[in-house]
Amino acid sequence: MAVVLENVLGKANPLGDIAQKVYDGVRLTREDAIRLYKSDDIMAIGALGEYARKRAAGPGREKYVYYIHNMHLNPTNMCVQTCRFCSYANPTGKNPSYTWSIDQVLDAARRNVELGIHEIHMVGGLNPACNLDYYEEVLKALKAEFPHIHMKAMTAVEIEYLADLEGISYEETLKRLMAAGLGSMPGGGAEIFDDGVRERMAVNKTTAAVWLEIHGVAHNLGLKTNATMLTGISETEENKVDHMLQLREQQDKTGGFQCFIPLKCYYDGTNIQEEVTEPTAIDLLKDVAISRLVLDNFPHIKAYWIQLGETLAQVALSFGADDLDGTIAEEKITHAAGATTPLQLAKERMEELIYTAGYLPVERDTVYNIKRVAEAKTLTIPPLEQRVAALC
Ligand code: SF4
Repeated sequence: MAVVLENVLGKANPLGDIAQKVYDGVRLTREDAIRLYKSDDIMAIGALGEYARKRAAGPGREKYVYYIHNMHLNPTNMCVQTCRFCSYANPTGKNPSYTWSIDQVLDAARRNVELGIHEIHMVGGLNPACNLDYYEEVLKALKAEFPHIHMKAMTAVEIEYLADLEGISYEETLKRLMAAGLGSMPGGGAEIFDDGVRERMAVNKTTAAVWLEIHGVAHNLGLKTNATMLTGISETEENKVDHMLQLREQQDKTGGFQCFIPLKCYYDGTNIQEEVTEPTAIDLLKDVAISRLVLDNFPHIKAYWIQLGETLAQVALSFGADDLDGTIAEEKITHAAGATTPLQLAKERMEELIYTAGYLPVERDTVYNIKRVAEAKTLTIPPLEQRVAALC
């Protein structure tokens, strides 16, 4: 029998008091979250995540798992920063460096817009050749040719860089980009907020305070944004909990985060592997479940299939995730660091993954308006314990 929250409730279970809080809708503390990370009872943690996911989904939507038909567009891989975990920017031979002209950006977009995508997710390196004027032109050109496509673009790191280049405020930078066609912001560049990890990984960009400030400014301007957390870069479980708590606090203030995306580092092309511990499948499932529980004010938690791979992403849906991200044509950043997932997962395959994990596929737009709810199917799904065991 699958573990359900009711099995975890009560004094007999070491996590019983936390389960009671989840059941009662009481906010978890830092200590609660750390206890969850230290626990070996992965099935109980998953049951709590699944319970919280269902409650966040609301009546009638308990089985919904969202995805979007989208593409990634990365106009430049040149960057003034040299974060040690980054294989995408400043390549040393394996991936040639590039900076696309506006026409090249449009060509890349055209190939995928023809496939029926709804969203372009655009991020890139911090490249002085790609200043605010460049991105205004890129956005205007894309919106002129594809007015129906939502532009989710520019991480807080890029906003800080462009604002500093221009000598203007974050607010003015965002307003200019919004006037050019920016529709929402992705959640990249948060990495881990802890200063010690950032120092070890040579993260000299956007501090935690500035990253959160920029998202707050974006929310106040009416932009929806996402938030990420990068693991496998020498962080501790306490660092992860503190990262989530800072996001929760920001969300309480400005409320514009839609989705949290736990990410794992890929190491190809980096020199950090000997200094770090690679997260296991169980670690990654805990990140999904515990983020669902701690981030009680985030509507959605994403199982980013392109990093997790299909099997782990499917299991993550039973640990609190309710979104598989997108069909993602043209992804370059994770693949530059060794991800081997197929570059474009067709809509049919995406829906099959959701069905065979026991959920109902829902195609969405960038801001979670529902475009289509797939027909319900009754399939026989192997027990969750068996699927988790197969990952270990
Ligand atoms: S992670 Fe971002 S800021 Fe750091 S080197 Fe890579 S592209 Fe540049």
